[in-house]
Amino acid sequence: MPLTRFFVLLVLLLSAAAASAEPRVVLDSTSVNLTDFRIGYYIDDSRELTYQQVRDRSFRETASTTSLGTNARVAWYKVILENATDSDLALDVQMPHAYHVESVAFHEERDGQLVRSEILDLDNLGNSGIMYHGVAVYPVTLPANATTTLYVRSFAYSHQWFALDIYDEEHSRQALVATNNDVALLVGMMLALVFYNFLLYFATSKLENIFYSFYLISGLVWIALSYGLVASLFDAYGDEVFMLNISLITMPIFLVLFMMAIFETKTRYRVEHRFLQALLVPLCVMFVWGLFDISAALKPASTAAVIMMVVTLSVTFSLLRKGNPLAKFFLVGHGFFVIFNVMAVLFYKGLIEPTYIASHGVGIGIMLEALMLAFIISHRIKILEDIRASQDELKKQAATDPLTRLYNRRYFFAEAGYLMEVAKAHQQPLAVLAIDIDRFKQVNDTHGHAVGDQVIITLARALKAQSRNKDLLARFGGEEFVMLLPETNTDQALACAERVRAAIAAQRIDLSPGKQLSLTVSIGVATVNLATDSIETALNRADKALYEAKHKGRNQVCLNNDNQTTEPGVTQKP
Ligand code: GH3
Ligand code: MG
Ligand code: MG
Repeated sequence: MPLTRFFVLLVLLLSAAAASAEPRVVLDSTSVNLTDFRIGYYIDDSRELTYQQVRDRSFRETASTTSLGTNARVAWYKVILENATDSDLALDVQMPHAYHVESVAFHEERDGQLVRSEILDLDNLGNSGIMYHGVAVYPVTLPANATTTLYVRSFAYSHQWFALDIYDEEHSRQALVATNNDVALLVGMMLALVFYNFLLYFATSKLENIFYSFYLISGLVWIALSYGLVASLFDAYGDEVFMLNISLITMPIFLVLFMMAIFETKTRYRVEHRFLQALLVPLCVMFVWGLFDISAALKPASTAAVIMMVVTLSVTFSLLRKGNPLAKFFLVGHGFFVIFNVMAVLFYKGLIEPTYIASHGVGIGIMLEALMLAFIISHRIKILEDIRASQDELKKQAATDPLTRLYNRRYFFAEAGYLMEVAKAHQQPLAVLAIDIDRFKQVNDTHGHAVGDQVIITLARALKAQSRNKDLLARFGGEEFVMLLPETNTDQALACAERVRAAIAAQRIDLSPGKQLSLTVSIGVATVNLATDSIETALNRADKALYEAKHKGRNQVCLNNDNQTTEPGVTQKP
């Protein structure tokens, strides 16, 4: 007898265990706001089972928000609702990701009898009244003190990403209006970035801006689609809209193209370039495949995503090692992308619990990476600007004399050639002054070379102050200066030379406290005969006039007019 008793006990225990394996939702209040509860699921690999056949199968337990991965395209969910109150409950069962599936069917069963069925085919919505902007809303009235069982068949396009909420009427309304603010914000930010980068492209013609824009567009299309914004804004569902998932393939394609452009891999990093090219091949194959059968092409998408992350990360590490200044920023941005996408891939494959971050991982990863890439673009502009500024500085250094900062002889000849052309074109006179400090050796001998340098700087400043903006002033050698005066005839040139001479002669240069020095200059003047002169011949004549001025006792201006026989030579004395 004890043995029989033991068996009876065992059977009782086992049946109790079996009964407890069927999760049920007990409703003991008229206020219902259920988003996290236990349900049963059954994966139908044949995809052909009917409600009658499925109800006899044994269901496994999961949460009301769950991901069963890509190998569960058809899944049945079983929700047992027990109304423990004394009044009938009018509830809405909401499936928030209904926009995401090919079809969904609700079967409502009471006392073992089917009381109602609703089928939602997203490719052929017809006059189905249970679709509200992407959310399936199945109204159900639970009689008091009775149990109702719902069987929900979800036919997913690729991954089985399921969620079910149960609300009373008021909570149902609230849930329907409060959706997608986060997604709309993400998409809005990305749209602004797209707009900005198109503008940048038009300003700079840099390809990375275009690739980045298309990367962003792919990203925002996918985010809008997969988090329900397309459904809630445009009421668009089904095969045609599902096609937009091709953005999940174009996104890495444009990211790789972006990397090639911003790192200039083609010219600077040949090996890494080849790796990126090799990565583009399967991506492009998947893209073409997706054009024909997006649902099938998406199946290997998560595997492809892993390969892509490995390749792009390796390439970035390699660029980092080779000292590329942008690589570290890219690594941070791409690191975000990888971390959140790994979470998302695990979620889509049904390997981790659904959480907000896991289920929104791709969107969050795209957004963080997008912000970092925007920073990289601006940082690169800064690098290019720095290079240009240092090139400008080099050019300037090559054109100027380091002591006085006046132009040097080389720059003088280049610019003088241009000023000659301008003068010829406008038939305007042009004059040249050769200026040399008088008895400068004495300054060096008396006060030392360093003071001599200071004196040269002071005189250069004085000469600059006496010249007009359009005059070309250069230091030709030790203490010799040349001034080219556009739009200046002989008289004006002489007047100018005299003004310079007088200003220098009047200047007192402070040496040590209480010590002052005054200096004079001699100036030779020549006007350029635009028909016969080169700048060198004109300068030679100015030098001759300078020599003459020295010869005649210094601190004076002399004119050479060998080339203009009609004008008599003029010598001005102070
Ligand atoms: P003159 O009136 O005939 O021109 O007499 P000068 O002593 O000025 O003679 P000249 O122009 O031939 O000599 C130039 C001197 O200027 C020679 C050199 O000692 C000095 N000198 C040339 N370049 C520099 C320089 O960069 N710094 C300093 N301190 N002295 C220089
Ligand atoms: Mg001199
Ligand atoms: Mg000299």
